Amino acid sequence: MGAIVVHGGAGKWKREKLKDVKEVLKESALKGAELLRSGKVVDACEEAVKVLEDSGLFNAGRGSVRNSRGEVEMDASIMVSDGRAGAVGAVKGVKNPISLARWVMEKTKHTLIVGLEGNLELEGSEEGSGDTVGCVVTDGRLVVAGTSTGGIKGKLPGRVGDSAVIGAGTYAWGRGGASATGDGDEIIKVCLSFFVVSLIDLGLSPMKACEAGIDLLLRRTKGKGGVVALDLEGNLGYAHNTKSMPVCYVGPDGKPSLLGFEVEEETEEGNEGHESR
Ligand code: ASP
Repeated sequence: MGAIVVHGGAGKWKREKLKDVKEVLKESALKGAELLRSGKVVDACEEAVKVLEDSGLFNAGRGSVRNSRGEVEMDASIMVSDGRAGAVGAVKGVKNPISLARWVMEKTKHTLIVGLEGNLELEGSEEGSGDTVGCVVTDGRLVVAGTSTGGIKGKLPGRVGDSAVIGAGTYAWGRGGASATGDGDEIIKVCLSFFVVSLIDLGLSPMKACEAGIDLLLRRTKGKGGVVALDLEGNLGYAHNTKSMPVCYVGPDGKPSLLGFEVEEETEEGNEGHESR
């Protein structure tokens, strides 16, 4: 019983990076799956995201892009389907923003805290490698969703995107959970993850719910992005309107499957990330 899905964002990727991306996504999903087997569903989400933050391959944690002042400011959030949630926005000098979001959820009476500063020197990534990361995991009883990002390259200092906003970048409630990525300033306007999870809760399959979510994002805002979701049975939902969105899913059979690399492997284009407008 149980399933986990992790994603590496809805950006464009350089072909030579894809091998490493596949390895790290698999490592992240299998780490989460292992924790899931020992009954630790919240740990599974946090640790899976930490693997991605620590890899330096994605625009999250160590690999985060810089803002217009050359600083790294990160957003992250986590939510459990029983209604617990925590999020951080524009945090600096912190190795694992997802852990800070969990701290907000478990150790404070708040849901979102912005502007926290740690003492770590985070260099950030020049080219904006990879993209936002996220995870949705279920043990059949609860669904937990988490998202972490460095935001968009060249953003104004203090800008907070969807990844810190419960309902936009991350949501879990009742029968489902979702993690989104893409044009955060647009994703916030359609409350993408809330929309997807609400459809799952109303009985739609996670796949149909994700497709409806991306359709809504495009129709209302012309935004680019992607979303992954799970229901309590571990059924996968996955949709994006970008070239690629690398994903690793470990279903109830325990076997990892990689999705979302197809288009990009045929192109020569590099990752451009999401730039500030
Ligand atoms: N959604 C993130 C943000 O706007 C960026 C991304 O997913 O690429 O901060």
